[in-house]
Amino acid sequence: MLWQGRRESENVEDERGSGGGRLVVGGGIGTVILVVVYLLLGGNPQGLFESQQQAQVSQPGQIDSQGPRDEASKFVAVVLADTEDAWHEIFRQMGRQYQEPKLVLFTDQTRSGCGFASGASGPFYCPEDQRVYVDLGFYRLLQQRLGAGGDFAEAYVIAHEVGHHVQNLLGITDRLQAARGRMSQSEYNQLSVRLELQADFLAGVWARYADRVKHVVEAGDIEEAMRAASAVGDDRLQRSSRGYVVPDSFTHGTSEQRVRWFRRGYETGDLSQGDTFNAPEL
Ligand SMILES: [Zn+2]
Repeated sequence: MLWQGRRESENVEDERGSGGGRLVVGGGIGTVILVVVYLLLGGNPQGLFESQQQAQVSQPGQIDSQGPRDEASKFVAVVLADTEDAWHEIFRQMGRQYQEPKLVLFTDQTRSGCGFASGASGPFYCPEDQRVYVDLGFYRLLQQRLGAGGDFAEAYVIAHEVGHHVQNLLGITDRLQAARGRMSQSEYNQLSVRLELQADFLAGVWARYADRVKHVVEAGDIEEAMRAASAVGDDRLQRSSRGYVVPDSFTHGTSEQRVRWFRRGYETGDLSQGDTFNAPEL
């Protein structure tokens, strides 16, 4: 992927090395809630206020890391900027306005609007605070343990999480949450698979934009993304971790399905082709 020297998103929040506490700019009710949460988690509120004061010195929306940004965070910021450009354009075509998500880089653990998270849970999107959370350690895992390294594989992971943000903006996430209480776990898992495959489809739509509009996709990149989509299929992950596969417990779809929906998004670039919820076959 051609990414060096291109626009970096200002929506990256770098929490690495800050002990997992997001630097919050401003006070008010948010501060009170934060302090309560912090105390419940056994933290020292004094430390919280110190970090808030530091945050007020720095510009909101900029990356807070000390010193020059490293390559990894620059890369993430460029890919996030690409997703912003793509989704602004696609939403405009739909007569809607795209709201950009924030992306939090963290190490080991963090507190999100969706609760406590560790790097072990992998990258995720929290609809409550509209943030994508990425522990860069996941990329090592992807490369070394799952055999799916490469910059475009890493970009696919971000594009998938941004896909969940798009689903949130389109109201798809809410509808799924509303249905949750009325169904069994295995029924809910089936819906979750459809949600995840749609996020893969949306990542494919982004990849098409990066290729056809931005011209930043190089030979082998699309294959790299598909290898990553395949590496994180439920069947593949279950087989490697427990040695057997339990389809009822699938929440993301098989390797084959994930590749298929990513490819469909990439080949069509057409959101109407991505209705995984009504697709007779996944
Ligand atoms: Zn997902």
